[in-house]
Amino acid sequence: MRLRGFRALIMGPPGSGKGHISEKIVKKYGAVHIAAGDILRKHINEHTPLGKEAEKYTRKGLLVPDALLLGVIGTAIYKAGNRNWILDGFPRNVTQAKHLENVAHLDMVINLQIPDEAIMEMLKFRLVHVPSGRVYNMGVKAPLVPGLDDVTGERLERRADDRPKVVMARLSAFDKQMNPVIGFYRKQHLLHTITGRHHQILWPMVERYLVKRWGLSAIRSFRPKRNLDLLTCKP
Ligand code: ADP
Repeated sequence: MRLRGFRALIMGPPGSGKGHISEKIVKKYGAVHIAAGDILRKHINEHTPLGKEAEKYTRKGLLVPDALLLGVIGTAIYKAGNRNWILDGFPRNVTQAKHLENVAHLDMVINLQIPDEAIMEMLKFRLVHVPSGRVYNMGVKAPLVPGLDDVTGERLERRADDRPKVVMARLSAFDKQMNPVIGFYRKQHLLHTITGRHHQILWPMVERYLVKRWGLSAIRSFRPKRNLDLLTCKP
């Protein structure tokens, strides 16, 4: 009998729908979502010492130094305990990947691959509600009233970094950063790459892989009984 839930890592370029797919895994299989970007944003919004330091880097679109992030990710993983969990946005370099090895044994690494031109096309239609982070897409998940958030009725905006030139720069930076990480997991035979033009096509493939790798009954037996506040980061 297995004594713990699955430990999955999801990787994919900006705009590949990692967040959407993670949300689906969380809802359907009760996994805990550990998203490095969300943890940092929470610290930044709460003006914690870590948040104040991290903001100096996130503001410029730079990676936060490893020393700032390793502890909070380790704590979030510790708090997730034996539940199913899915890690998103970490690791982004081989040092982080090696650190993660010391903290947890991953069961699978899901690598989403979407052609650059499909990402460019999708981000052209992406709108966000900045205060909540809710994301809409005019083609796939349109707001009920064009241009307005479904919950608050407030105005939706395009992200400044979704402009085509900036997207191209983000995609090429992602390749440079992540290729060594992909190589690291390929060597360990943990990497499973799923290719498609849209996250709606990718999701059923991700789900099939998850169930095949881990088993449906095992996945369900590790649903969390309560929501964890991973973000407060108190062990
Ligand atoms: P994006 O995928 O667009 O970079 P995220 O929400 O994942 O958005 O991350 C937001 C910011 O947080 C990044 O630009 C970076 O500054 C910081 N960040 C997130 N994850 C990491 C990480 N693993 N290592 C260093 N910095 C990170």
